[in-house]
Amino acid sequence: MPLLNDFNFENKKALIRVDFNVPLNDEFKVTDATRILAAKSTIDAILNDGGSAILMSHLGRPKGKENKFSMAHIVEKVSRVLGVKVKFIDDCVGVKVEKAVSELKAGEVLLLENLRFYTEEKAGDKSFAEQLSKLGDVYVNDAFGTAHRAHASTAIIADFFPKNKCFGNLLAREIDSINKVLNDSQKPVTAILGGAKVSSKIGVIENILDKVDHIIIGGGMTFTFVKALGGKIGSSLVENDKQELALAILEKAKAKNVQIHLPIDAIIAENFSNDANTKEVDTSEIPDGWMGLDSGTKTAEKFAEVIAKSKTILWNGPLGVFEMENFSKGTIELGNAIAEATKNGAFSLVGGGDSVAAVKQFGFAEKVSYVSTGGGAMLEMLEGKTLPGIEAILK
Ligand code: AMP
Repeated sequence: MPLLNDFNFENKKALIRVDFNVPLNDEFKVTDATRILAAKSTIDAILNDGGSAILMSHLGRPKGKENKFSMAHIVEKVSRVLGVKVKFIDDCVGVKVEKAVSELKAGEVLLLENLRFYTEEKAGDKSFAEQLSKLGDVYVNDAFGTAHRAHASTAIIADFFPKNKCFGNLLAREIDSINKVLNDSQKPVTAILGGAKVSSKIGVIENILDKVDHIIIGGGMTFTFVKALGGKIGSSLVENDKQELALAILEKAKAKNVQIHLPIDAIIAENFSNDANTKEVDTSEIPDGWMGLDSGTKTAEKFAEVIAKSKTILWNGPLGVFEMENFSKGTIELGNAIAEATKNGAFSLVGGGDSVAAVKQFGFAEKVSYVSTGGGAMLEMLEGKTLPGIEAILK
């Protein structure tokens, strides 16, 4: 795997694809700099080596050149996070940009304008990628969040750097973490899949059946399985057309010796609201008019036992509607169990959208081994797909 360490950046210009798609408030101020901070290690390494850094990213979903999506809004924040006064150029290709790059000295950082101001970026246009490629001696991809896209700056551009291309530290760590779970894992391996729907996780479940020892199912997905098994689920979330699929998954798991653990009990509510009346019942005995919004006490104990015995843990998706306080307990207790197992030496990876939000909200981010920065990209890797942004560096 080509890494930063394989290159000497002294007097070299590194063209780095970062993921600075950060949230901005009404005054165009960055409200969460996590993604900028995540790229710091790569940029620091290149500057310390005596190189200069040209940073390129997209921001939001602009339709053409829209000022509200200009990278100009984030220059100050990037400067503050990096501790370097970052230069900005209001375009990302062309003569003006090439001139700014040629004037860049060792130790300096230049931020380019939003790549998606050009439709060619998402279209994966070859000549746009070629124009971008003129801006650096070495291409570094450190944007895991867009690694599942074959865009000009994330994949196509790599062809113009046949030898001089590598992963940044963040992307390398993401690949490493997923490898530790899927390919190079210490057994027993437990995957926890929660969230809303079976349909969005089916690709993941099918791929990991060959790689794990236990699968814990939770969240809204639970009820499609429970109904398929003949349980009463009241008005809980269900995908009726996925019941056969759920049964097929259980059969396949049995054949492969993978233990599937479903919630035994649930916190049920009379409606989808934090103020609703609640009760705790067996998952398969939910009365009409009630819906399961969190997992219950017996479930928490059972899941904690499985997790305590695991050496490798993957967590994707909450166990309940954690956004509402009264239905967050199952997710919090699961997080506690994973934190405890991690303390005792297990490797734990959290990734994919909402579980990352939950982990941050409940303060588990520092207590697990790694929190992935890419939602869609992480899901695709767990589905066993080769990501264009990763393949482009490896080929
Ligand atoms: P996903 O993006 O598939 O990981 O789904 C995350 C969402 O699933 C969160 O917004 C949760 O509120 C939701 N969720 C979790 N458990 C349930 C449930 N029992 N019923 C409805 N939604 C749920």
